[in-house]
Amino acid sequence: MRDDLQKSAAGLQKSFDSLQKGAGDLQRSSVGLQKDTADLQDGFIRYTSLNNYLKATFHEKVYKLSLSCAVTCPNRDGTVGFGGCIFCAGGSSAFSGDPRRSIKEQLKAQKRLVSKKSGQKFIAYFGSYTATYGDCEKLRAAFLTAAEDEQVVALSVATRPDCLPPKIIEILKEVQSRVPVFVELGLQTANDRTAKFLNRGTVLSDFDRAVKLLKSAGFFVVFHVIIGLPHETADDLLNTVDYCVKMKADGIKLQLLHVLRGTELATLYQNGEFDVLSMDEYIALLCAALKRLPPEVVVHRLTGDGAKKDLIAPLWSADKHRVLNAIAAVARPYEL
Ligand code: SF4
Repeated sequence: MRDDLQKSAAGLQKSFDSLQKGAGDLQRSSVGLQKDTADLQDGFIRYTSLNNYLKATFHEKVYKLSLSCAVTCPNRDGTVGFGGCIFCAGGSSAFSGDPRRSIKEQLKAQKRLVSKKSGQKFIAYFGSYTATYGDCEKLRAAFLTAAEDEQVVALSVATRPDCLPPKIIEILKEVQSRVPVFVELGLQTANDRTAKFLNRGTVLSDFDRAVKLLKSAGFFVVFHVIIGLPHETADDLLNTVDYCVKMKADGIKLQLLHVLRGTELATLYQNGEFDVLSMDEYIALLCAALKRLPPEVVVHRLTGDGAKKDLIAPLWSADKHRVLNAIAAVARPYEL
């Protein structure tokens, strides 16, 4: 079964192809892409990449160290729901540090992983499950230990809008007195109908409140958005991107929908309830999303990293090199 999104993506692909030849057509496309074509004159869609943003900010390449506290998620432990979001195979833990080890040990081990690369500066990234959901004193100790490492120049936590109580905000402010703090929110979609289907356990107004709180405290807010969600149209995706812009997002992670083994999404996929995007469809939608972003929104991710051993579909996404090359053929980061 081909989905609405794929039909729209095919339309976008056509629009994008004509854009490559001459910039006029895309502005008249069915999704009403409002684009000043000035930045397309060299044939590329431009965006602000995290890599270039960090280099410009910290004057050298900055690597992420994936750290992990022994946290879970209120959408898994029954506080908000059971089973979690239907696409979730356990938070972003595939590449994270081992939560049984201390933060100092994890920092050391993760630095070893990037030791062949040249960077000496790092972002401490807490991305597993819901990184602000747990014993506050333990989280405080973990975040501060990471922030006090002299090579750590920023701290990033991935969380939900309903997991930001005053005590956590206080802790993050304490961290912020040492290094900048990025708070990543798992939005995925601004469409509450889709969010319900995904069993996200939050509605858009929760994000409205959380973003206002985080911005007023001076944190950088980064939204996670999934491209290729079942039953979403291209307009749904672009509305989500517009929502991020409207909320003055500092960053956005654009990720392809991965179907991972053991998830509810995998069952739906295997029952033929939806199909996944082709690479061309994905890139067309990605480009349409990038075109909506002003340069001040930093793009933290263009694809997504699922654990290859658990990947059911789309299998083309396992060849990350090929995907990134295909994206680079049409979209390039601004030089900063
Ligand atoms: S909120 Fe995050 S960790 Fe929790 S179930 Fe959803 S994707 Fe997984």
